[in-house]
Amino acid sequence: MTNELNKTILKANILSKYYISEPLFKAKSVVKALDGVSLELNEKETVGLVGESGCGKSTFAKTLIGLEKKTKGSVFIQGRELSTFSIKELSSYIQMIFQDPYNSLNPRKKAWEIVSDPLRVKSNYSSKVLRSRAIEMIERVGLRPDLADRYPHMFSGGQRQRLGVARALITKPKVIICDEPVSALDVSVQAQVINLLKELQNDLGLSYLFISHDLSVVKYIADRIAVMYLGKIVEQGDTTQVFNNPLHPYTRALISSAPEFDSSVTLDDIDVIQGELPSPLNPPDGCHFSNRCPHANELCSAEYPYYHHIQGRQVACHLAEEFDRQ
Ligand code: SF4
Repeated sequence: MTNELNKTILKANILSKYYISEPLFKAKSVVKALDGVSLELNEKETVGLVGESGCGKSTFAKTLIGLEKKTKGSVFIQGRELSTFSIKELSSYIQMIFQDPYNSLNPRKKAWEIVSDPLRVKSNYSSKVLRSRAIEMIERVGLRPDLADRYPHMFSGGQRQRLGVARALITKPKVIICDEPVSALDVSVQAQVINLLKELQNDLGLSYLFISHDLSVVKYIADRIAVMYLGKIVEQGDTTQVFNNPLHPYTRALISSAPEFDSSVTLDDIDVIQGELPSPLNPPDGCHFSNRCPHANELCSAEYPYYHHIQGRQVACHLAEEFDRQ
């Protein structure tokens, strides 16, 4: 995959999503769920987005495809700003695979109806054509065509996620946002779905933004990795480089505390690092990681670090160069 990387297909430019919180009898405050995130996804590339629950990963995914309204910044798909796409048009460029294959499929619809839904929205195809396209896609994701008339409850978790993949692919998009696509599945089934995604990427030239709190899965599937903390990306770069030599103290903590070969243990199961994850309502001054970072100094509490560019990587840490020399 990596040697064929070329054009940028999806670009988030200083993207922010703020929520206003107005608790009873208290002053209004702003929650910066996503705060100035810039990220590019190239053709045929997989970028893994990692971080603890609540760090802003899913908000980023939803804002990228317009399910959440951005507060600031912009999103470009093949160089065109997101707001210039109609919903019908957008479905041919970008689709999403959701975390929970149990709740993301309509229980009252047959498999072929679920899979063909995005195509129904964007076309005037007859039911006969929709059904035939859906059955092709059901086979393409490794399910038998005779399962097309079954309802979601008649499928296993892995089979349901295959239906989710088929539904995402039926409009022939180039970009798929995979939001924790295997975290609700048994460990034994996760590898099958991941391998299916890789195979489809090779065959169809897809680009994936792969959101996960499972570092072992991201290490396996992603060409590049972006690490998110409290709504900001703190480190991004080539996956092998980041895993071999993480430069941001938060990335170091994540990688050193994640078990290497046990994908049943995720970032939410482990004590990632000392200290409490601050509230996004009231993040620490300066570097938002300063209250938990063992290397924090006066500058860290005074100024948010700009990105240091080191060997093709971006690291938001005042001491990134020093860590690189160690
Ligand atoms: Fe730690 Fe300072 Fe770097 Fe933040 S800027 S991660 S507090 S060393």
